[in-house]
Amino acid sequence: MKTLAKLHPEIGLWQDDRPIPEPGPDDVLIRVRKTGICGTDIHIWNWDDWAARTVPLGLVTGHEFAGEIVALGANVTDLAVGQRCSGEGHLIGRHSRQSRAGKFHLDPETRGIGVNEPGAFAEYLRLPAFNVVPLPDSIPDEIGAILDPLGNAVHTALSFDLVGEDVLITGAGPIGIMAGAVARHVGARHVVITDINPDRLALAAEVADVIPVNVAQEDLRAVMARLKMQQGFDVGLEMSGNQQALDQMVESLVMGGKIALLGIPPGKSPVDWSRIVFKAITIKGVYGREIFETWYKMIAMLENGLDVRRVITHRFPADRFAEAFEVMRSGKSGKVVLDWG
Ligand code: NAD
Ligand code: ZN
Repeated sequence: MKTLAKLHPEIGLWQDDRPIPEPGPDDVLIRVRKTGICGTDIHIWNWDDWAARTVPLGLVTGHEFAGEIVALGANVTDLAVGQRCSGEGHLIGRHSRQSRAGKFHLDPETRGIGVNEPGAFAEYLRLPAFNVVPLPDSIPDEIGAILDPLGNAVHTALSFDLVGEDVLITGAGPIGIMAGAVARHVGARHVVITDINPDRLALAAEVADVIPVNVAQEDLRAVMARLKMQQGFDVGLEMSGNQQALDQMVESLVMGGKIALLGIPPGKSPVDWSRIVFKAITIKGVYGREIFETWYKMIAMLENGLDVRRVITHRFPADRFAEAFEVMRSGKSGKVVLDWG
């Protein structure tokens, strides 16, 4: 089968022919139809320090996918051949306290497909049946292929009650934009999204009913005054990984405000903790998706009118992966989807 693998310790990914994997007794075999390219895949493409430390050479990459089940392991009785699906790419252990308590997303033994284990940039993917998420007919494959990052957005956005609240999202990457759509869908009042990239802000306004603010040019406080906010934002969703964005968020929040942190700063970064203490701010770190509560809520919201289709700006056949990665690396795209036929 055709795959995209990290064959050499340098920039790029390489097309590689591999045998189709055999599903174990508790696995399914999935014929991959569409895959999303993630920021993580860009780190692996660029072979930065994190990637070199984390990803074994030779690994088939990719973790955002949708496809169709084509074979079932001997013990799998609750899924069917022909079933369309996406799936959770975090493979959990069964031994930790958290796993045994059913808090699967907090399992410290988690391993990721496309990062630690063979991934989805391939014509076929072997996945534990436990990780499979069936897709209703109303969700097309290309949306199925971005449920992983939409799940990051949903997990973060649903971390705090947003009904009637004013929400600040820092970072209008694909995940920030989708979080904006989710925040509006669940009933937030004003949703302001910041970035310094005008293309990303334009896309945000196209995809969701949010107020884009270019913080390199506009004063966020002036926007808050225009919206007649008395004190500030009630909830902040940090989705840039940028230190200045987090500072600005703390500055713009009400007393007792709440922050959900998804963005990953590149290294250690200084934080003015006393300001956080005096403002009595609650901060929650968000990793991955809640397994499987986020998946349930996300599919329910998509069935109930949540529309993120326009966040996909580019589509390429898998053979043209080099062009697709170039578009992603340019910062002039939303989600980029590869078609595996
Ligand atoms: P992205 O890199 O596409 O988007 C980040 C955006 O932040 C960019 O558009 C960038 O221009 C913007 N930005 C930079 N400086 C800014 C500033 N000062 N103010 C406002 N915006 C600024 O990333 P993405 O794929 O949308 O992911 C969002 C973040 O979430 C990334 O940091 C990513 O690493 C992280 N992430 C975390 C998890 C997790 O499980 N915690 C999962 C996926 C992604
Ligand atoms: Zn991803």
